[in-house]
Amino acid sequence: MWQITLDNYAKKITRGFDNFVDDFFNWVLDRKPTESLTELFERAKNIEGRLGEVSRATSVSKWLVRFANCAESEKISYYYYYKIKNYHLFTDTGVPVWRFLGSTKSMISKCFHYFYSTLIDTVAFQDAYINDYEGGAELKKQFRTYVGEKHPICPYCDHTRIDLDRFSSIDHFFPKAIHPLLSIHSNNLVLACSACNDRIKQAQVLIPALHPYIHEPHDYFQFYFSSNYQVIFARPKLPSHLDITKKYMISYQIEALYQKRLDILVKELSELRGNVRRAFRRYRNLSVKRWNCSSDEEVVKRMLEYHIKYRINKNYKLKGQKPMVKMIIDFYTDIQNRFLESESRFIVINVVGY
Ligand SMILES: [Zn+2]
Repeated sequence: MWQITLDNYAKKITRGFDNFVDDFFNWVLDRKPTESLTELFERAKNIEGRLGEVSRATSVSKWLVRFANCAESEKISYYYYYKIKNYHLFTDTGVPVWRFLGSTKSMISKCFHYFYSTLIDTVAFQDAYINDYEGGAELKKQFRTYVGEKHPICPYCDHTRIDLDRFSSIDHFFPKAIHPLLSIHSNNLVLACSACNDRIKQAQVLIPALHPYIHEPHDYFQFYFSSNYQVIFARPKLPSHLDITKKYMISYQIEALYQKRLDILVKELSELRGNVRRAFRRYRNLSVKRWNCSSDEEVVKRMLEYHIKYRINKNYKLKGQKPMVKMIIDFYTDIQNRFLESESRFIVINVVGY
């Protein structure tokens, strides 16, 4: 629920994927109309550079020939580049689906499935495309472990820890079953908890959608609470964010999930009240009052404001590192904006009695 920027090492891995696909299509588009199939096979055997290293050691050469020999090869590559260039727009519009022949569609699916499930875990690919890669052969696992350590909380739900690789999975933001060309595209690979991943994978992505590499969800919606703090609900920060907020809540079933975790706030609230109560008691025992307040409630209100501000700042520093930080920040924000009077009264009564 917090925007994520991958560091250079993680980006180096995913950039390797993009570079590979780029080399792949460049080679495919190089085919001359006069080139026979035999010549094509011959050329595929003698590819130079990093693409050659990979294609000779893996099944990539087979796919290169099949793509180059496909009647729709140009269209496929245009579609691929169109998709990666406009990727950031698709969270608003959805990914346009271009029509291809059935055989072409199946070729793309099988080939990109192979890239994701097998190729990127081969040493040949890693040696050629990921500079100074030091992880194990299982690159996907390495990616999960590395990114999970840096960003230990699921970016979708902000609830589940993903710093142990058995709880994390690589989500294809736009599902690879529907958009196979995005199977190893850097922006489309998001480390998430298995629950969120399965939830969005089963359904289509609801558009408009918030993407952890593109949006900061905190700018789009805020959690609010009923006056007894027993019910949580999300509201957009701007009227224009209504739809995207709704879709986000539905996609990851956030409100139902958070409703069950309000116990975290019970603890936060009792600490806040305890701190202010103690501060207020100390203040009442002072012979000279520092503050020029008209009433006890006014004093407590100022103390509450101070403690809330402190707690919000403290939690901001923990975003993405500790679960449920967004909910906690919004809880304090809601008290500050709507419940300051009632909280002050509650604390005064508690201390002074009326
Ligand atoms: Zn999650």
